[in-house]
Amino acid sequence: MSKTILSLEQLSKSYQMGEDEQTVLKSINLEIKKGEFLSVLGPSGSGKSTLMNIIGMLDEPTSGRYFLSGSLVDHLGEKELAAIRNKEIGFIFQQFQLLQKWTALQNTELPLIYSGLPAKERRSRAEAMLSRVGLGEKMHNRPNQLSGGQQQRVAIARALVTQPSILLADEPTGALDQKTGQQIMKLFRELHEEGKTIVMITHDLDVAKNGSRIIRILDGELGEVNHLDS
Ligand code: ADP
Ligand code: MG
Repeated sequence: MSKTILSLEQLSKSYQMGEDEQTVLKSINLEIKKGEFLSVLGPSGSGKSTLMNIIGMLDEPTSGRYFLSGSLVDHLGEKELAAIRNKEIGFIFQQFQLLQKWTALQNTELPLIYSGLPAKERRSRAEAMLSRVGLGEKMHNRPNQLSGGQQQRVAIARALVTQPSILLADEPTGALDQKTGQQIMKLFRELHEEGKTIVMITHDLDVAKNGSRIIRILDGELGEVNHLDS
């Protein structure tokens, strides 16, 4: 039996829009095991990014409970929250979100600056991670000297360099052509085989199928997918 790394219990999220309240996540329950590659599949507007932001501790639920590595994530101050987020979560986004003025290596080193590691150690970890994602030759390039797929590889290296418990990816292939997207998914499958826990959000069934488990989100409610109708 694999260890549970993350669980959400009766978790809801509402947004206040003037007089109206919109409930975007409706009392969801979710358990994620260590080493799982979970795909969360749903159409635009179904609540995927809201779920990702809550799991990534960038946003708070309106009600319900969130446990990460056995601890309740609640009533934490900004500082404590940032420390947990830094240690436990690696983020990847559709638009890469790299710093344009910095090289691939500097971008990858960035999360380690908060770790207190000596500069030499930071650099060698960042170099090793860039080599791992296939960018060893391009570490001194800036984002505008890299293709979309290469920029996403830098973002993956940056997300993993702190050795987080979970890699969270929101539409990681959304800005890439199909072939490049498939190469990035190959890298995700390899990382999964190496034991990484991955939560990937997508609206694309073919992308979702790279995961070891798929759940659907529709209008703020989760459902398991047993047979894929494609
Ligand atoms: P998805 O990522 O699946 O496209 P989102 O989680 O981004 O969906 O959005 C789900 C719903 O929540 C949408 O109707 C969106 O308009 C609404 N929403 C998202 N963020 C906010 C916000 N900060 N304030 C108000 N409404 C929001
Ligand atoms: Mg989204």
